[in-house]
Amino acid sequence: MLNVAKFTFNPFQENTYVLHDGHEAIVVDPGCWNRQEQRELEEYLEQNALTPVRLVLTHAHIDHILGCAWIHDRYGLLPELHHADLPVFAAGERTAQMYGLPYDPAPEPKDFIAEASTIRLGKEELKVLFVPGHAPGHIALYHAAGPFVLSGDVLFQNSIGRTDLPGGDTETLLRSIREQLFPLGDEVVVYSGHGSETTIGREKRHNPFLR
Ligand SMILES: [Zn+2]
Ligand SMILES: [Zn+2]
Repeated sequence: MLNVAKFTFNPFQENTYVLHDGHEAIVVDPGCWNRQEQRELEEYLEQNALTPVRLVLTHAHIDHILGCAWIHDRYGLLPELHHADLPVFAAGERTAQMYGLPYDPAPEPKDFIAEASTIRLGKEELKVLFVPGHAPGHIALYHAAGPFVLSGDVLFQNSIGRTDLPGGDTETLLRSIREQLFPLGDEVVVYSGHGSETTIGREKRHNPFLR
C-alpha cells in the first residue's frame, strides 16, 4: 500500500507530498522553505522510519522547488523532472528574486522523467502522465491501486492551473485534463499542488472551468 502524506509549505501554500510504502519514500514537490518547514518534513520521515529515495517534481515552478537544495544536502537526492520543464527550473533563481524570496538554488537534475514511464517504490507503481498547459513539462503521478493521482497545479478543487506564466497555454491545459485525467475514473482521488484533495468525478460535475 502506498501512503500519502501532505504538507503545506511556503508563502504560496504549496502542497508537498511524501509517498511511502512503510520503508522508503518519494518526496514530491518539496516546497519546504524555512527551518521550521524542513523540520516538519524531517520529523515525519524520522517518526515513520522512512528513507527518502527519490525527489520527483510535477513541474518546476518556484513554489514547488524551494526545498530542493535542502533535500539534496540532507538526503543526497537530486531532483527528477520532465525535460520540457528544464527552462522553468533554470529560471528558479530569477523568479525567486522577482518575488523577493530567499532561495537556495536547486542542484542540477539527475534524471529526466519520461511520459508514460513508471516510477516504482517497493512493490508499488506510479504511472507518469504528461499534462502540459500550466507548465510546459508538467507531469501527474497516477497510482491505479489507490486509486489516486498527484495532479500538481493542473487540476484543483473547483479550479484549474493558471496559464499566464511562461510556457502556459489554456487549450493545452484543458486537453491535458480531459484526455489524461478524466479517463482515470470518477472515483480517483486528486491530490493537488494547492488546496484540498478532491476526486475526478467531483471536478467533472462541479468545477466551473470544466463543466
Ligand atoms: Zn505551478
Ligand atoms: Zn504551485
